[in-house]
Amino acid sequence: MIASATQHALSSDHVRDQLVARTVDCNGKRYHADGQYVLYWMQTTHRLDDNWALRAAIRTADRINRPLIIHQGLDPTYPYASARHHTFILQGARDTARDAIARGLFYQFVLRRARDDDRRVLDRLASRAYLVFTDLFPTAGVHERTMRFAQRASCRVLAIDSVCTVPSGTFERAEYAARTIRPKIAALLANAIEPVDDVPPQCGVSDAVRAMVHELTQSAVLPIATMTNDDITREVSRCAIDHDVRAVPDVAGGSVAAQSQLARFLQHTLSEYATRRNEASDPFGTSNLSAYLHYGQISSAQIVRDVLAARVSTDSETAFVNQVTTWRELSFNWCLRTPHFDTIEALPAWIQRTMAEHVNDPREWHYDRDTLERGDTHDVLWNAAQRQLVSSGLVHNYPRMLWGKTVLLWTSTYHEALSNLLYLNDKYALDGRDANSVGGIMWCLGLWDRPWGNKPIWGGIRPMVTSRAKMKFDVAAYIAQN
Ligand SMILES: Cc1cc2nc3c(=O)[nH]c(=O)nc-3n(C[C@H](O)[C@H](O)[C@H](O)COP(=O)(O)OP(=O)(O)OC[C@H]3O[C@@H](n4cnc5c(N)ncnc54)[C@H](O)[C@@H]3O)c2cc1C
Repeated sequence: MIASATQHALSSDHVRDQLVARTVDCNGKRYHADGQYVLYWMQTTHRLDDNWALRAAIRTADRINRPLIIHQGLDPTYPYASARHHTFILQGARDTARDAIARGLFYQFVLRRARDDDRRVLDRLASRAYLVFTDLFPTAGVHERTMRFAQRASCRVLAIDSVCTVPSGTFERAEYAARTIRPKIAALLANAIEPVDDVPPQCGVSDAVRAMVHELTQSAVLPIATMTNDDITREVSRCAIDHDVRAVPDVAGGSVAAQSQLARFLQHTLSEYATRRNEASDPFGTSNLSAYLHYGQISSAQIVRDVLAARVSTDSETAFVNQVTTWRELSFNWCLRTPHFDTIEALPAWIQRTMAEHVNDPREWHYDRDTLERGDTHDVLWNAAQRQLVSSGLVHNYPRMLWGKTVLLWTSTYHEALSNLLYLNDKYALDGRDANSVGGIMWCLGLWDRPWGNKPIWGGIRPMVTSRAKMKFDVAAYIAQN
């Protein structure tokens, strides 16, 4: 009894400290003293487990003894809105809705099918809230949307970081390279992954509050918890989005699928990750968790906890934790701390100098965006990676590096290369529009790297060419698969 009370006190200090490092005040406005509830606007953390915004919202709701409303919405207007992303998100929302019912939480999902549909559901909900919590996320237009909303809202809006394992607020500036952020993350990791016992809010949602929320949302709420996959497909088909980028039937969205994927990885792959991770023809050589991480359908802290608890080969454990913490959080650190993070102008001075020196170097090949998108270049390996991206929404990391680097050789300017890479990645990849998308592509342009000699077109940027890929993986098998 005493032990568990002490444990609880420790745990609650831990939660408070983590929340301080994870919270960004978006508008400095007052709390609505007469607000009827606390509102959590779920934007990018599509789960109820290990969700810091939800934890913060429950703590506030308990402190002021008011209920908690969780609201998630989906618009047709986000960048690259497509059947692929919509299906994955709706499948995720179904899991969240079912989980909310099991936990006794009030969660609602609102789908705006067309631009002209009611845009003000969130504003109306916020007008009756004491305070609004939302997710901190630097890319996919989420930050801009949050700040526009925070300006309109009359109560305080707080954005909470649930995306990084070690709170992003720990780092005050953009880190220079993986080697500079790695030891800092390692020093804080054990504390950051400490499990937290989540408790439901003390104050239930009364019938009066339910009726009020119902009136504020009008009839836009989708009965997502009971929808079948066919219902979801039908719903998606009615939305004004890009239907040419189709859903990927083999990749189910949602926290349930994410947990099964993690379990499969822990059981069958983790122990060999260090040796299998670069074999692009092996579909199970890596975790395939990036889309779930992107949509917040699984937490990176849980992944790291479970990987460390598995106690497999040290090399594999170290290699995997390095990818999911160091490299992933370096990308978030970059996007959170760098103005105009996805532009050439944001790159370090040595890269801009080398680009200025080599921008007029003759290019043997030039491919426009359409040709790249069709995967119709002279390079069969590049085309295979592009086909994998278009058909499955995921690309193995090794060919993805080659895919990104090679485009530098085929475009007139580095600006054109960057713009084409962001377009192709974000349009088709289920893990696209992420800080990792920006990080991966900017790395191809030299970010976090050092100068590597001085070659035509590459200048000092580290070269990587598809012709040498045979030394790394079974290129023929990869091309045959894609
Ligand atoms: C040009 C280019 C574009 C990229 N675009 C994206 C993107 O849009 N979204 C995305 O999540 N990743 C992107 N990456 C990084 C990497 O390719 C993917 O994270 C990885 O292939 C996902 O597969 P996995 O989940 O099986 O990875 P695993 O090897 O199982 O790794 C586990 C997790 O660690 C993180 N991770 C792994 N490799 C990297 C890396 N190199 N950089 C940062 N984090 C990493 C990811 O979150 C990944 O899910 C890109 C890399 C490049 C070179």
